[in-house]
Amino acid sequence: MNHFEYRGGAFCCEGVKLAEIAEAVGTPCYVYSTATLERHYDVFRSAFGTRDVLVAFAVKANSNIAVLATLARKGAGADTVSQGEIERALMAGAPASKIIFSGVGKTAEELTFAVKAGVHQINVESRAELELLAEIARGLGKKAPIAIRVNPDVGAGGHEKISTGKGDAKFGVSPEQALALFARAADDPHLHAQGLAVHIGSQIRDLAPLEAAFRVMRSLAEKLRGDGIPIERLDLGGGLGVPYFNEPDPPSPAEYAAMVGRVFDGFDIGLSFEPGRMIAANAGVLVSRVVRLQERPRPIVVLDAAMNDLIRPAIYDAYHGIKPLNQPKGAEQAYDVVGPICETGDTFTRNRMLPPLEAGDLVAFMTAGAYGAVMASTYNARALVPEVLVSGDTYEIVRRRWDVAEQLKLETLPSWLATKA
Ligand SMILES: *Cc1c(COP(=O)(O)O)cnc(C)c1O
Repeated sequence: MNHFEYRGGAFCCEGVKLAEIAEAVGTPCYVYSTATLERHYDVFRSAFGTRDVLVAFAVKANSNIAVLATLARKGAGADTVSQGEIERALMAGAPASKIIFSGVGKTAEELTFAVKAGVHQINVESRAELELLAEIARGLGKKAPIAIRVNPDVGAGGHEKISTGKGDAKFGVSPEQALALFARAADDPHLHAQGLAVHIGSQIRDLAPLEAAFRVMRSLAEKLRGDGIPIERLDLGGGLGVPYFNEPDPPSPAEYAAMVGRVFDGFDIGLSFEPGRMIAANAGVLVSRVVRLQERPRPIVVLDAAMNDLIRPAIYDAYHGIKPLNQPKGAEQAYDVVGPICETGDTFTRNRMLPPLEAGDLVAFMTAGAYGAVMASTYNARALVPEVLVSGDTYEIVRRRWDVAEQLKLETLPSWLATKA
């Protein structure tokens, strides 16, 4: 469920008309709903009942500090993949004790930063990383809390580019190697071997691969305990899909939690989850204005939003619902919907049935709260799209538009070009 709906003919986010935001802030702009973010967190967290779980929001899905602060106040932790994301999570008020640091390419600087910050867990993806981290922790006189990321050789996810759990993917180590690395870490006075971690992909619409991966995790934890090596936690990653309107609904958080309950029945171990898309996707829309129509047998709607603002259709062939901000009247017809960028990849959708549109109309791309603004760029010297957070009947700009004048402040001519020819 989300909080975007028509009220008296106007498409609203909670109690605010999106058209009002578009007029005040300009388009394109992202708009997020506080109530939806909170509800998604609550639904996910409460699905596990009284079980002690850490729900660490995957910051890469939406790293705006207002979004992170909204979730941190609900008690969410943060799953991060760079020093920048750790800094954002801390700034938003997530305690270090709830921050997980993941990723295959963590640098020595980033690991040092994470150990000093006192994060909850560093998910180690290789032997080389483990050795480096042990050395860093020794140098700092600290004990770094770690989990070993397992590649369970289970493929899943809505698109090849977001599937991470197959044996040949770049993530994690084999189950056998994970056991060896965990035992190695358990022996190191500067490492606290607390768990194993897994994350097999994103936009997963089927519980079977997740269940298969989680069974591998349980058996590995049992094996360690059987060998007398204590293990306290399992980090089960993110990946639960969301409905993008044209697809069958993914399993609900309740069904997901019930499956987790089945897999870990009678097994006492702390669990962490790293949902990103499930929390943020349907909590955000991208609002855009129709610049003009090109007459063709199938008309082309040219928007002021482009692939630099929302790249998912271009790189994942992703589907986003499109809603006119004025309650539609008239029969639907087929359109292609494109942005102004100079490449054919800047096409949001082809042959989409939509209500009649004309120049000046406002539309919203649905399900754009995750992997939307975070992937935006300034390609074609366009402004970086602003972000707005709604709460009830009010809204505020939480990232202002970064226009070309400001972008140019980062650039200088080299000395040999700075004087007139
Ligand atoms: C991307 C990612 C997530 C979040 O995935 P969603 O599909 O958005 O839930 C969680 N954990 C890790 C390690 C990731 O890379």
